[in-house]
Order: sequence, then structure tokens, then C-alpha cells
Amino acid sequence: MEGIVFNVQKMSIHDGPGIRSTVFLKGCPLRCLWCSNPESQRMELEIASFANRCMKCGYCAEVCPKQIIEKGNTYSIVDRSRCDQCLICVKECCTNAKQLIGQSYSAEELYQEIVKDKTFYDSSGGGVTFSGGEPFMQADFLIEMLKRCKSGGIHTAIETTGMADTRKLLEALEYSDLIFFDVKHMDDREHKKLTGVSNQAILDNLAALSKRHSNIIVRIPVIPGLNDSAENIRKTADYTAELSISALELLQYHNLGESKYAQLGREYTLSEMEVPTQEHMEALAGQAADIIGDRPTQVHIMLSL
Ligand code: SF4
Ligand code: SF4
Repeated sequence: MEGIVFNVQKMSIHDGPGIRSTVFLKGCPLRCLWCSNPESQRMELEIASFANRCMKCGYCAEVCPKQIIEKGNTYSIVDRSRCDQCLICVKECCTNAKQLIGQSYSAEELYQEIVKDKTFYDSSGGGVTFSGGEPFMQADFLIEMLKRCKSGGIHTAIETTGMADTRKLLEALEYSDLIFFDVKHMDDREHKKLTGVSNQAILDNLAALSKRHSNIIVRIPVIPGLNDSAENIRKTADYTAELSISALELLQYHNLGESKYAQLGREYTLSEMEVPTQEHMEALAGQAADIIGDRPTQVHIMLSL
């Protein structure tokens, strides 16, 4: 069984307890406006162009069999629909300004990569986190990896958008110690505007998971002016507390992924967006905590910088 991975981030400390390896699987059904990993969205392998490495020698444009690399200025790929990932430009660029995003791994290869750091996981209470994209876009591969890691004594976490086949989510629960579950907006119409999909299946999946798993952390990415209204925070806090979710985590928006859009020939539409201040994050967390009251759901904030 093979999966497509775009990054295995070692020594990660933000995706669950302890020191972890975070495995980013390619493919996502959502198109969140603020996505900081646009390279995760498409399932297929892609070529990224790094302008800061390009010395404008023009060689890639000459050798591209499809002649789809712009000549004379940016040397970016102008018609990606015609790129067949032949990798000639990647191999021929001597400054690494063209790079392949995504790599196919067998389950055994990926497991061997993960298990290399088991000493760090064991000494820090860490483990592995499967992220994306949406890891359930490759559900069978994900479940196979969770099984292997679990039987190898590695703590397992998943980061999901919740937009997934409910049966696969429930199957994965058995091999998952911790689940991070995103809730981006409680209003369905707003959710569609911001992510491209309805929140109905997502909220239904959260309700189904919460009946069977005791360690779910709901995450709200806080995007100023888009989902940080008092009403949305109140509704999310209310909903998660009713479901006995273990924690609600507010993630501070950041724009660190902006440059990746240009590398992939896409447009980032939130260039003017300000990063929310720590005071704002704390105020929102305070509102959520007030609503949750003495119910057991904890509230945290996660600052990005
Ligand atoms: S071969 Fe590499 S360095 Fe030369 S123009 Fe193409 S991307 Fe730039
Ligand atoms: S991968 Fe091949 S087809 Fe695609 S841009 Fe590079 S050389 Fe051209």
C-alpha cells in the first residue's frame, strides 16, 4: 500500500504532546482561504518554483518538453494543467529552484522513517501526528499507518478537518490516542464561503466521534473578521462543551504560508490580513471559557509566532 506525503517534519513540538514526527499527507477536500499549506491541497504531485533560488539561466524553459515554462522573467510554470510531472526541469535546475512537492511512500518505508525517532518519542512522551491536507483523503493508508505505529508502541495523533467518511473516521479511532478536529465556522453559509464546503458532515462527524473517543481537541483557526465574532466563538464553545470534548484550542492566524502560493502559481487572497494580537486571542479564550463554565472542556490558545 502506498501513500503520497509532502513532508515528514521531525522534532515537531506543536502537534501534540512531547517530541513528534508530523506526517503531512497530500490531498484535501477543503479550500480554506487562509490555508498555510497550499501544497497539501491537491492529491497529485506538483512542481514548485522558488524565485529566490532562480538565477534566470533559462535552462528549464529550454528543456521542458511541453514548453510551459515562462521565458525571460520569472521562469514559472504558466500552464500547470499540461505539466505531466516528467521532472526534467527539477533534475536539470542546478540551483534547486524547481522542486517536486510530494513523494510516494510504502507503508513500510514511512513506518521506518517514523520509528527512527522512537527514542525521542519515548523520552518526551511524544509520538507521531498524521496531518494534511486532510489525512482521511488517503484513509486506508492512514489507518494502516496508525495500526503499525500503535503496534510499534508509538503514541498516535491525527489532525483532521472532519470532512471524511464517517466509517473510516470511526475505524481510525481505535488506533488513535489523540484527535485534533478543526471547526472553522458554526454558520453553514459562512463555512462554505470560507472553505468551499458545508459544515454539516463535519459537525455530524464530530458528534459521532465524541461518543466514542475521550481525547478530542477541537481547534478553531482564528481568522480576524472572518470567524472571530463573539457569536461564532460562543456557538463553537457551546457546541463543543455539550459534546464533552476534552479541549477547545484557538489557533492564531499567521501568514507564513503566503509565499508558497506564488511558488505553486496560485493567488493568496488574504495578503492584507493582520495577525490577531495575543490580547485578542486571550479575550476570545476568556469568552469561550465563560460559556463553558464548569463543564470539563478546557480552553487554550496557540500562538503562531
Ligand atoms: S533552470 Fe533553475 S535557475 Fe535556471 S531559470 Fe530554470 S528555475 Fe531558474
Ligand atoms: S515537470 Fe516536465 S512538463 Fe512539468 S514543467 Fe517541468 S519539465 Fe515541464
